[in-house]
Amino acid sequence: MDVSQKSVLAGLVRQQRFTDAAQAAELFLQDDTADCRLRYCAAIAWLWRKEYRKAFAHFFLLLQQARAAQGREQPAEAAFNAQAALQCGQLAELLYGVDVPSRPYIFEQATALALELGAQTGDRLVMRQAERLRQRLMISRDGSRIAIMPDSPYVLQIEPTNCCNLQCRMCPRTHMSRKRGFISVAMLDDIFGHWRSRSVSLRLAHLEFSDISFTQRRAGEIKLFFLGEPLLHPKFHQLVLRAKQEGCISGIQTNGLLLERPAVRRKLLTAAPAAIGLSIDGFDADSYAVLRAGSAWSRMHAGLRSLHAERESMGLREQVKLYISTIIPAARPEYAQAVQRFLAPLREFVDEIRLIPLKCHYNPEFFDEQGSLKTYTYGHPEAGEFATEPLCREPFEKMNVLWDGTVAPCCCDIDGRMSIGTVAGGIDTLWQSRALARLQRALIDFSVEEYPLCQACLRMREERMPALQC
Ligand code: SF4
Ligand code: SF4
Repeated sequence: MDVSQKSVLAGLVRQQRFTDAAQAAELFLQDDTADCRLRYCAAIAWLWRKEYRKAFAHFFLLLQQARAAQGREQPAEAAFNAQAALQCGQLAELLYGVDVPSRPYIFEQATALALELGAQTGDRLVMRQAERLRQRLMISRDGSRIAIMPDSPYVLQIEPTNCCNLQCRMCPRTHMSRKRGFISVAMLDDIFGHWRSRSVSLRLAHLEFSDISFTQRRAGEIKLFFLGEPLLHPKFHQLVLRAKQEGCISGIQTNGLLLERPAVRRKLLTAAPAAIGLSIDGFDADSYAVLRAGSAWSRMHAGLRSLHAERESMGLREQVKLYISTIIPAARPEYAQAVQRFLAPLREFVDEIRLIPLKCHYNPEFFDEQGSLKTYTYGHPEAGEFATEPLCREPFEKMNVLWDGTVAPCCCDIDGRMSIGTVAGGIDTLWQSRALARLQRALIDFSVEEYPLCQACLRMREERMPALQC
């Protein structure tokens, strides 16, 4: 980066014109695509704009270029690249939940490079920080798969109640044998008191403009639903408010029937969770009635319409997103088209319709050598050198809390049979437990013989999702 380019970028950054700064850096890069400093400026400017894909595409290329230049670069460049790689690793670890494809792979590459360049330049601080980050990596025994193991779960799925007003045909509740009940609001104190990930921030210095620093935050995510209808909880709004007080992003998912009650809608919108999802399944009113036994399409429809109108009149369109989540038997276009036709009358009342395959299979996206995004089918030979993921990511990111405080590592575990303790043991302490580490190890090593639930779950994915197999 020459002096005039640096001065242009500095001016734009100081005026907080981040899109202009990113575009200017990209323009300058056309003359020197190997300039890591320009690439870093572009990455950070896109990061400030919350354009995470673009930011990490630049970081990814920066890592490749720094790696290619390693050993031939000037000491100052090596020192810069070491710090840029470290920041890339820190950000990849922090930014869970944002749109960053192949986050674990970027994390692994960034921290490895930071460690090597730190050693090369004698920067002990970079080395120490990179080493600390690398302790969060779990690598399969054959070295082909990696996962980031955060020091605290990113997401908690908390069950307000396991009681329900419907008897849906596909619901596993029919197999549930545990007692029914409602979580107490006080139990959230136990949960939040020992959960570091409820709010995490990272302050970084801009490596090119020494007077500028920036803070990136990650809010813990709370899913206030599991095996029951959350709106049956008499204090569901207090659960939402409590999560928000802690700076968490909270969402609920409901079957929608209780939305016909004005008091329920008022409490819900006053608490204002970040997302309200409605579970609506079927291909027409008849199949809806069969699948969602006990519901009534017209009542649910009227409730959603009122909720939407009230959200608009309360000016909450940005704060509270409404979506429909609908299951399709397999990820095939004909299923998608059928449910979209069925849900068309509701489309204007929600921000999004999410199609959920009966079980998902993960097809990772990744940048190709030009920095463009490409989908690599899970286990496909084209994935080549790229690291793949564990069999299932659930226990690497999330924990489940049942209404009575039982903590389990998986939301398929309807009776808490894989329980690793109760919230009294502390969320973060349980997260570090040997039982959880064993399950994670089994999933990353593709060796789940000791876990019948995982075996059944994974077998079901393969049987039901042929369209998603490579
Ligand atoms: S509404 Fe949800 S929890 Fe209740 S029966 Fe249906 S699927 Fe199960
Ligand atoms: S049962 Fe096992 S494989 Fe299935 S979601 Fe749970 S942890 Fe993952």
